[in-house]
Amino acid sequence: MTRTLTLLGATGSIGASTLDLVRRNRGAWCVEALTANGSAAELAALAREFGAKIAVVGEEAFLPELRDALAGSGIAAAGGRQALCEAAARPVDMTVAAIVGCAGLGPVMAAIERGGTIALANKEALVSAGEVMMQAVAKHGATLLPTDSEHNAIFQCLSGNRIEDVARITLTASGGPLRTWSAERLAAATPAEAVAHPNWSMGAKISVDSATMMNKGLEYIEAFHLFPVGLDKLGIVVHPQSVIHSMVEFRDCSTLAQLGPSDMRVPIASCLAWPQRMETPLAPLDLAAIGQLTFEPANEALFPATRLAREAIEAGGAAPAILNAANEIAVAAFLAGQIRFTRIAAMVEEVLQRSNDAPRPATLDEVLAVDQSARRQALSLLETSALV
Ligand code: NAD
Ligand code: MG
Repeated sequence: MTRTLTLLGATGSIGASTLDLVRRNRGAWCVEALTANGSAAELAALAREFGAKIAVVGEEAFLPELRDALAGSGIAAAGGRQALCEAAARPVDMTVAAIVGCAGLGPVMAAIERGGTIALANKEALVSAGEVMMQAVAKHGATLLPTDSEHNAIFQCLSGNRIEDVARITLTASGGPLRTWSAERLAAATPAEAVAHPNWSMGAKISVDSATMMNKGLEYIEAFHLFPVGLDKLGIVVHPQSVIHSMVEFRDCSTLAQLGPSDMRVPIASCLAWPQRMETPLAPLDLAAIGQLTFEPANEALFPATRLAREAIEAGGAAPAILNAANEIAVAAFLAGQIRFTRIAAMVEEVLQRSNDAPRPATLDEVLAVDQSARRQALSLLETSALV
């Protein structure tokens, strides 16, 4: 049976992996809406290829270009923040949320509010909105399918088990491309070095997050909300081969792990086909060729981001949204050559310290206000501390 699909963030890395799977299963899917930030020509080409009903650019300035590129196709074009939310609110069987950053929060909440099934890759939205998002999921009867590979692994391991029986959830981390670097080398790491991930091919922002370990910090907060076992039962282990995507240990000392190739098409396929399975074009794991799987503790002295994330959950309230917003600004500044690699986590920590009296956000608008205010704080830090 054909199912309808909306893809938020169609022109990104997760977007491309999703569309690759849809392309191979054309009969199974009918595409409703595709969105991007700019990239109007690329978005229009995808909308034509997949016969989307509507294409939306987040930046309204790109709307004329999108309209021109879609002329004569019968595909509707729209632009702006509100249009993204309206596209996400159109009824569909499956929404893939693959916008990067807190910019995806409004559209994700719109999909949740119509009680949809959402494959959530956009971790920053959940990190920022936390309880507000999880309460909306419960209130509107929405279904969140974790797409981040670790959370998808945990979701699979929990299937058929009771959350009360969980003794420990362990997120695996590759450690990123700079895992073995010294403090001096880290201070001089360039954007090209930071985005050169050994196992995964991803967008620029998450690649930098992976190098600072903030990706694991964000994932820690994401897991805290998705799997309510409490902070003391959530751990992280560095596993450089990225073969085990995460593990769940139960109270009888059984540990279930999910293994697979380091390719996001595996967790995306698991969400698209859920609760069934579908084929992917990947080579199955060859454990004999891989040879060994190794594990080591995270080095929080060199990579403080996981500590900052843990402290942000412990502080609760606005802290996770502040951590995320400051990190988004710091990563963009690093990619633009404005700050050193090691300044990213330092900036996040400073913004958190300066904002420790921010009130707990209870609505989407309040979360967005916290996000905006933390961004302003981070930007003002940038102005006063260039290239340190
Ligand atoms: P990407 O940068 O490759 O793509 C981002 C997409 O979002 C693009 O389509 C872009 O046009 C759109 N976008 C960017 N800014 C926007 C804005 N302000 N408004 C509206 N749309 C905007 O990113 P990605 O690597 O595909 O990551 C997407 C999300 O999935 C992120 O939250 C990331 O953390 C998460 N994720 C990615 C991977 C991966 O392998 N790439 C793995 C796990 C989780
Ligand atoms: Mg991940």
